[in-house]
Amino acid sequence: MERVAIFPGSFDPFTVGHESIVKRAIPLFDKIVVMIGYNANKQSFFPLEKREKWIKEVFKTEPKVSVECYEGLTVDFCKKVKAQYILRGLRTSADFEFERAIAQVNKMMHPQIESVFLLTIPEHTPINSTIVRDIILHGGDASMFLPSALNMADFKTEE
Ligand code: ADP
Repeated sequence: MERVAIFPGSFDPFTVGHESIVKRAIPLFDKIVVMIGYNANKQSFFPLEKREKWIKEVFKTEPKVSVECYEGLTVDFCKKVKAQYILRGLRTSADFEFERAIAQVNKMMHPQIESVFLLTIPEHTPINSTIVRDIILHGGDASMFLPSALNMADFKTEE
């Protein structure tokens, strides 16, 4: 059976930390679907269409990786794309505690779905979308935190 993983997140924006987790997971799975989770009632910083476009751009030469937007429970998206694995990145003990509860509840409700965690590489530990957004919002240079395939100019036009 094909090993399909989903990588869910809000990716507002997608950072080098996210990129690294997906790239390191490519040899582990036959297919990885990056799931941009959204809530129609919640305002994001970058529009959904832009986030989707950027992630597609990053993985345009990687046939195993696709990108989809989804509103709803992550486990329901797993069923939709026939995924058996939920991929997540771990940076800190705070990430661990947060992820542990979600993964254990998911496991109780959907025993067939496994959560798989990759530890971040040390230099990506402090990177998160909130800080990167703040740098961009205030006109700073966030390029070192964004995938090199993307053009910084695209991000600046968002304000
Ligand atoms: P969420 O809305 O779930 O917080 P994020 O876009 O922040 O979504 O994160 C999606 C996934 O990427 C999570 O598993 C998160 O731990 C992981 N992640 C975020 N930033 C990094 C990073 N710098 N290094 C490794 N993993 C990361």
